[in-house]
Amino acid sequence: ATPTALLVGTGRGAQLGILITGPEVLESTRRVDTVVLDKTGTVTTGRMELVDVVTDAGASAADLLRLAGAVEDASEHPIAQAIARAARGGGAEGAALPPVDQFQNLPGLGVSGTVEGHAVLVGTERLLAEWAQHPSTALSEAAEAAAAAGRTAVFVAVDGEVRGVLTVADAVKPTSAEAVARLRDLGLEPVLLTGDHEAVARQVAHTVGIERVIAGVLPADKLAEIQRLQGEGRTVAMVGDGVNDAAALAQADLGIAMGTGTDAAIQASDITLVRGDLRAAADAVRLSRATLGTIR
Ligand code: ADP
Ligand code: MG
Repeated sequence: ATPTALLVGTGRGAQLGILITGPEVLESTRRVDTVVLDKTGTVTTGRMELVDVVTDAGASAADLLRLAGAVEDASEHPIAQAIARAARGGGAEGAALPPVDQFQNLPGLGVSGTVEGHAVLVGTERLLAEWAQHPSTALSEAAEAAAAAGRTAVFVAVDGEVRGVLTVADAVKPTSAEAVARLRDLGLEPVLLTGDHEAVARQVAHTVGIERVIAGVLPADKLAEIQRLQGEGRTVAMVGDGVNDAAALAQADLGIAMGTGTDAAIQASDITLVRGDLRAAADAVRLSRATLGTIR
């Protein structure tokens, strides 16, 4: 590689909002044939909003939201922040939430804690199952309907009983479909990878034009999913933003972080998309290949 050609490539990259850790990255971009995209915060905005509260007969939606919000307030997760914000009545300030004891964060599953003497659990059906709790048919159906619409349903259990479902939604970024089309044009097969429910993932995938979906993956297992694709003989690029993506980004042949994401994701990656626009992932691959072309 001649230093001048690299300088041109990376200089143009900086203009486009693409930061590359070093020249060795260029070679990986030439070989990638698969691009794994994290869903939340990468393909979607990651700015979650609470859109619905469904309770089982008799339970008050406001009370349930207050208990769930109190526990979620201690978590950084976008779903947690949306629920806590809604529980406070919208704004960042609003009504104070009751304090939480014995808070536990269960990555990829949810949270638990004690609020006003009640044991509160907020999270996935898998989390409830670990505590041997099962939702009623009505709540299960509410959760399924939400998922079919591309929304994430979170269960709330109080003192060992599942009392309701909170539905949160975030929007697919307006540029994601175009980004996927551009990645395909470069010969990369897109794969959507998420810890979220399969039905939610399918709906989002459909919206942006992705066929292959790997859903319900715990944060610790995202790395193994990258290895599995590599085991199929693929050369894999991964685009992600979260702490839960960092190990997978490091394992990928080419790790690409959203500049709008966490430091952990950025540090684990070869390329950073400064503006958090997924279309720049395609620009990065195209530009790197073009740069290699000029120095070959
Ligand atoms: P993603 O891979 O989409 O970034 P995560 O691995 O962070 O998602 O979470 C996977 C799933 O676990 C979420 O879709 C949600 O159902 C559940 N979950 C994770 N954290 C929380 C939380 N704090 N409160 C409620 N549910 C949660
Ligand atoms: Mg994410």
